[in-house]
Amino acid sequence: MLSPTRSQSASNGPLTASQRSVAEAARGFMPPDEGLALAEAAVLADFSLGPMLEIGGYCGKSACYLGPVAAQGGTVLFSVDHHRGSEENQLGWESHDPDLVDPDIGMMDTLPEFRRTIHDAGLESVVIPIVGDSVTVARHWATPLSLLFIDGGHGVEPASNDYKWWMPHVAPGGLLVIHDVFPDPADGGRPPYENIYLPALASGRFQQRSATGSLRVLQHY
Ligand code: SAH
Ligand code: MG
Repeated sequence: MLSPTRSQSASNGPLTASQRSVAEAARGFMPPDEGLALAEAAVLADFSLGPMLEIGGYCGKSACYLGPVAAQGGTVLFSVDHHRGSEENQLGWESHDPDLVDPDIGMMDTLPEFRRTIHDAGLESVVIPIVGDSVTVARHWATPLSLLFIDGGHGVEPASNDYKWWMPHVAPGGLLVIHDVFPDPADGGRPPYENIYLPALASGRFQQRSATGSLRVLQHY
């Protein structure tokens, strides 16, 4: 499933220096080493199986890592987000950013920043936003995915739902990439580990390919 035509030499990595700095400058929650691991996972994906899809676009940071690989491989990245923020992004929570509130309605709106990020990165033709609730979109989704990146709501319910509703859309041979997987509770919240990562391994359908920080790359075999 490796596509040598799309793999760049190890010294260059999957992104150019300027693509890397655009991704690093974007607002969001993706440390540089995990972002590069995400892009490297996309290089391994077999795009003949289908497009890529991420849950949790936020301000476009992860899309800046996946988008250039999609462009190079002639596919697209669908980015699903209701753009109203997760629980931990709301007022009074640790990851709240007051700049991202629409003052007229008093709710978060990350879509304008997302669009600006993707525009400035030159990725508008390959990063396709889908604005809506993850489960609602999944219920109507029918296209097999070469790579599914789950980085949406991190509570038990949203994480379980993302696994339950999206996992069946990963094509055999496709990749399931999960962010914020913390086996040690001291490092962070449990749901991506307990409600996505462990069930995926226990399903017997996925095998781990790599781990970088809190990013896990599994393959559906
Ligand atoms: N991948 C991003 C970070 C995502 S943060 C980055 O690289 O920076 C998590 C995102 O999930 C938030 O933008 C939030 O709006 C979205 N989200 C949470 N629950 C959701 C749901 N049920 N449906 C759609 N999006 C959801
Ligand atoms: Mg995350």
